[in-house]
Amino acid sequence: MIDLISDTATRPSPEMRRAMAEAPVGDEQLREDPTVNRLQEMVAELTGKEAALFLPSGTMCNAIGIKVHTNPGDKIVLERWAHPYTSEAGGPGLLAGVMTALIEGERGVFTPEQVEEAVQPQGGFHSAPATLLCLENTHNRGGGKVWPLETFQAVAETAHRLGMKVHLDGARLLNAVVASGIPAKVWSQYVDTVWIDLSKGLGCPIGAVLAGDRETMDRARRYKHMFGGAMRQAGIIAAAGVYALEHNVERLAEDHANAKLLAAGLSEIPGIAINPAEVETNIVFFDVSGTGRSPQELYHGLIERGVRMGSPTATRWRAVTHLDVSRADIERAVEVMEAVVTGRG
Ligand SMILES: *Cc1c(COP(=O)(O)O)cnc(C)c1O
Repeated sequence: MIDLISDTATRPSPEMRRAMAEAPVGDEQLREDPTVNRLQEMVAELTGKEAALFLPSGTMCNAIGIKVHTNPGDKIVLERWAHPYTSEAGGPGLLAGVMTALIEGERGVFTPEQVEEAVQPQGGFHSAPATLLCLENTHNRGGGKVWPLETFQAVAETAHRLGMKVHLDGARLLNAVVASGIPAKVWSQYVDTVWIDLSKGLGCPIGAVLAGDRETMDRARRYKHMFGGAMRQAGIIAAAGVYALEHNVERLAEDHANAKLLAAGLSEIPGIAINPAEVETNIVFFDVSGTGRSPQELYHGLIERGVRMGSPTATRWRAVTHLDVSRADIERAVEVMEAVVTGRG
């Protein structure tokens, strides 16, 4: 199967599995796991933060990131398609007790003026205090969009001026780094907490790492425990993260080239609406409603021919490239899509 459903589809490579098998381990809850400690140091260094915390998932990084910066009854500001709003099962409401103020972005990106508008009126006892701005880079639903750095800096500075903290969902921050050439540290200097996902394009089976200043990370550790994220000999999975940071970052450029190739190929197929110029990283969105075929028909036609992408129930489709799909796989996926759409082959 050429699986373009998500970059979570990656399987650990034999070399990664070897690193996992051979990892020195200890009790992570007691901070005695040398591999977890090493991974945390690597991510702290990468993001230019004082400390980092290994967690089981990106969702828990967002849950804790939101929790450490807010009190129940506060308001968080985030983009309408931001992951904590669309895809975390109501976590911010239950786990942090916060309400959300949404910004309508342009492929996930918004302006300082929109931040100001979303928090108003700030102060005064009638309104919930807006205490946190959440950013996402790259933006998933925005089609893997990389924020323009100046805009990123401007919205973060506006939030800080308004007395808010800033949390960066960096599930795919390293895709943004590789695509833009702007180091993780540069993005991270404008935010209070930042995290990267290990189980997306980096190819690990599990894990994510949250970073921030030492005091915030000490409080985050308490919530890690409370939310059930504290582990034991977790070095066995942290080793995959160490391996990935050493071997799988630069190669994200290949995923980006493959996504551009896919977009160009899809744009040639009649009835598929796509703007290949929007593809900056590893995520490709396109619309299949002009093909004259139902999404269900297309989806199952692709599956029968060994390709998975999109959805049987929606016409706005997503395909994501990753380290388990090659350039040849992309060429094949385009051929198969064309055959299914045209009914030939
Ligand atoms: C996948 C994803 C998450 C959640 O990460 P998990 O590791 O799947 O829990 C959060 N934010 C964004 C933008 C994502 O793409």
